[in-house]
Amino acid sequence: MTNRVQDAIRNTENVVIVGGGLTGLFCALKLAPHPVTLIAAAPLGQGASTAWAQGGIAAAVGDGDSPEAHAADTVAVGGGIVDEAVALGLAREAPARIRDLLRYGVPFDRDLEGRLAVGQEAAHSARRIVHVRGDMAGQAIVAALTEAVRGTPSIRVIEGYNAEALLTEDNAVTGLQLRKAHDAAARPVIVASRAVVLATGGIGHLYAVTTNPKEASGLGLAIAARAGAVIADPEFVQFHPTAIMVGRDPAPLATEALRGEGATLVNGKGERFMPARHPLAELAPRDIVARGVFAEITAGRGAFLDARDALGARFAEKFPTVHASCLASGIDPAKQPIPVAPAAHYHMGGIAVDARGRSSIDGLWAGGEVSSTGAHGANRLASNSLLEAVVYAARIAEDIAGRAISPPARMPAASPVSRNATLPALSEKNLRAMMTSHVGVIRDGDRLAEAVRAFAKLERAADSLALRNMATTALLVAASAWARRESRGAHDRSDYTGENPALAHRTMTTLAAANGVAASLTDHAPAKPAQPNLTVPA
Ligand SMILES: Cc1cc2nc3c(=O)[nH]c(=O)nc-3n(C[C@H](O)[C@H](O)[C@H](O)COP(=O)(O)OP(=O)(O)OC[C@H]3O[C@@H](n4cnc5c(N)ncnc54)[C@H](O)[C@@H]3O)c2cc1C
Repeated sequence: MTNRVQDAIRNTENVVIVGGGLTGLFCALKLAPHPVTLIAAAPLGQGASTAWAQGGIAAAVGDGDSPEAHAADTVAVGGGIVDEAVALGLAREAPARIRDLLRYGVPFDRDLEGRLAVGQEAAHSARRIVHVRGDMAGQAIVAALTEAVRGTPSIRVIEGYNAEALLTEDNAVTGLQLRKAHDAAARPVIVASRAVVLATGGIGHLYAVTTNPKEASGLGLAIAARAGAVIADPEFVQFHPTAIMVGRDPAPLATEALRGEGATLVNGKGERFMPARHPLAELAPRDIVARGVFAEITAGRGAFLDARDALGARFAEKFPTVHASCLASGIDPAKQPIPVAPAAHYHMGGIAVDARGRSSIDGLWAGGEVSSTGAHGANRLASNSLLEAVVYAARIAEDIAGRAISPPARMPAASPVSRNATLPALSEKNLRAMMTSHVGVIRDGDRLAEAVRAFAKLERAADSLALRNMATTALLVAASAWARRESRGAHDRSDYTGENPALAHRTMTTLAAANGVAASLTDHAPAKPAQPNLTVPA
């Protein structure tokens, strides 16, 4: 164990931030000089979706654009359940947070007159994506913020440790249980704190086909849920329509901006299939494009992104990351269509938080993809997630800085680890396969019920806390997907097509409610819809 980790255990920290992506790094910087311990499962710069973001950040900074137009676009794609005040708040704070990032050294692209250059992405009514060297936004953001964090003496960084349990007493945070990552023999480490910020990212890696790093396995959401936090909208998972299918896990991404530049989607016969599905064709909302791609693949025709006419020889210069991913797999995208498929990409659901990032547990804040603010509804507008991460990271820092946080009176006790002798048949690999096949792009009640039963069983029986946490999040997603008997945004039920106006509201649920759904779905019980717990966080 390193000295830094020993120090963290000895000193009961005021503020502990879990996660080294945009949310965690930015929140730590905004809290300086307030002492902060930042814990990340992987070395900073690795294991975070932020570093892989290609498009950029949505912000109404271009001529003729406005926060109101940005918010209206956000609401329009969200399937009727976006919280409009939240969307407007995000859009209004975007320019200020972009200025912050510039100050921390993020080299956003500029036009010839020195103004921020803005790109176009699907379902945005204006060019409003600020970017870095074409598709390098995420890498540049993480590099600049990591350097700033490493140069800030009030931030102590602990890398290579997983938060595996959130410790609470009377619905208030008392600390975290950590364990060294990738070390099966490692013992748990307890950090005491009354202020914990979860910034652990998404859940994509719970799926077999995903664009997310393996650290995005829903662990942050799971530990909050296991401590009793209210979870919002877990059923809404966005599938990116154009993951590059070259047998890699995670699958590299062909950014939406390629379609913004005119690349088209074609099947194996070279026919465009999106114009028949939506007036905006390839620039339709993500869920519609993902279903179009899924349908071509399911019908055996295959799906490809064709940038030969739109970009041709300019491909390498405009999209260096995608170009490199293609070349590494023997595809020259200037001359060949790129094979693509939908992949789990972004989680609209998460720990329910209010406008300050506070969860339903006292002393627990959540920001970025692990949280659910109401900004995305049933379907996220492209490039709004980095925006949400940076806006809420700043709000959380402001909220924490304004509160007196006393250290816990005593060291919290470790979380009990399940010691079931029988190893569950459903391994991590099986769990991921089941999420893709049963809780994927197109869902139905029977397969969802099967998934709920399997995940609930694993949640009870898993011997390892890591696997158990994965099962917790998988169960929440599957149970809420089963309970939502309609199709809305990214949640598509083949047995309940179309929206049901009576269900035009967000889901607010808990792990106990998800287990209640599982209990109602015993093998012989009739599949009755369970009403998720509608407790709203304080
Ligand atoms: C390929 C790709 C491209 C994308 N492109 C864009 C884009 O162009 N624009 C946009 O707005 N969004 C984009 N997104 C989405 C966006 O990148 C993410 O939603 C956003 O970066 C999330 O930031 P975050 O800080 O919440 O989480 P992350 O950046 O994922 O960081 C999470 C951190 O938590 C750590 N962690 C996780 N679990 C634990 C644990 N149990 N204990 C300790 N540490 C833990 C991780 O190691 C990591 O450091 C993209 C996503 C992907 C995967």
